[in-house]
Amino acid sequence: MTRTHASAKAPEQAWLALGDAVAVFAAAGDAAAKPLHWCSPAFGQWLGLDAAACRALTAHALAARLDGLQAGLDAIANGPWNGAVADSSNRSASHPGWRPAELRATPDGLLVLRVQPESMQQLATRRHLEDRERLLFTSRSVAVGEMATTLAHELNQPLGAVTNVLQGLKVRLTSVLERPDTSAKALPSLAQGAQLALDHVQYAARIIGRVREYTHSRQPRRERVDLNALLNDSLTLLDWDLQRHGVQLRLNLSAETSADRVPVIGDTVMLQQVLVNLLRNAIDAMSATSADQRILDISSRIDDAGQIEIAIADTGSGIGDDAASQLFTPFFSTKPTGMGLGLNICRSLIELHQGRLWFTPNAGQGCTFHIALPPAHPAGLPAGSLGVEESVAS
Ligand code: ADP
Repeated sequence: MTRTHASAKAPEQAWLALGDAVAVFAAAGDAAAKPLHWCSPAFGQWLGLDAAACRALTAHALAARLDGLQAGLDAIANGPWNGAVADSSNRSASHPGWRPAELRATPDGLLVLRVQPESMQQLATRRHLEDRERLLFTSRSVAVGEMATTLAHELNQPLGAVTNVLQGLKVRLTSVLERPDTSAKALPSLAQGAQLALDHVQYAARIIGRVREYTHSRQPRRERVDLNALLNDSLTLLDWDLQRHGVQLRLNLSAETSADRVPVIGDTVMLQQVLVNLLRNAIDAMSATSADQRILDISSRIDDAGQIEIAIADTGSGIGDDAASQLFTPFFSTKPTGMGLGLNICRSLIELHQGRLWFTPNAGQGCTFHIALPPAHPAGLPAGSLGVEESVAS
């Protein structure tokens, strides 16, 4: 039996909601011979009594009927009591009937006895099952933990972008308010900014939704992905960053890599996460490059092995030997606010698609990140596929 010194709250409503058996009575002096003040329906049910019969019980009768209660009555002067009680008229060796119980005094001198709905044995069985369940859950939790880290990393980016966009909008709005005559001219760009913030929020929502789905199924989706369209969507998402950094864009996407020619089967949201990450890294890497030299060159092709390859080349800082050996190591980052998880996550996502992610130094400035993905099986299904949603996703 343990003693707690928790302060007496008024949780009766909660107990009732949980179906707990509760009785309120006075136990001091003559009052112990008086009927109970109140008892919950579950209390009567437990003792096999209707409400009137239950309320007619006295504290004395209750103490005589409930094994274990006397210990609580003896201890209550020192504070709330936690222990166990059993209905003596409904016990046997095979059915000891002990239930966890708690006794507390109310400020007006009454006692509240709460008996939990499960017997000690049921409680022990449930706890044992819960422990087993917890163990089984552990391995899954590791995966969920990884996904939570992914989530933190991935959401950092759209939230940062939304913050930037909103800050920009605020500045523009303030200047429009100061000079109302310019409002007509400013409206289109304000609307554009609002749309961009909305796009980022929707992107973040898609990531959350996908992570949630993935933690349930632990399977990437299998749908036809138009990589060219996905790249264009990702660039639209980064429009603001590209503009802000004055990045010149060169797009050289092969018609071969569009969904109606050689589609990829994969998870659209995951693949977009990879593209957005790589594009953002490339933009970040060019922050120290002189403004007129910031060039992002994106190309796609079918390589000699028939794989669909996307290359993202920048004119940024490039990757030195030291960084190269740690690039895919979690938490390696050279950015003040970087989490260093992006590339690691990107590579896992691409490997989930049976693809490859790597980088090469450029002949001139910067480096190029490459993704190669297997094409969809000629019949439309990759080997071992679970099935394909027939829509073309981008
Ligand atoms: P984060 O962006 O949070 O730092 P990443 O895993 O995406 O995490 O990148 C890890 C590090 O790799 C970056 O901090 C940067 O030093 C380096 N890196 C990634 N992409 C490039 C790039 N295109 N050019 C130069 N360095 C890069």
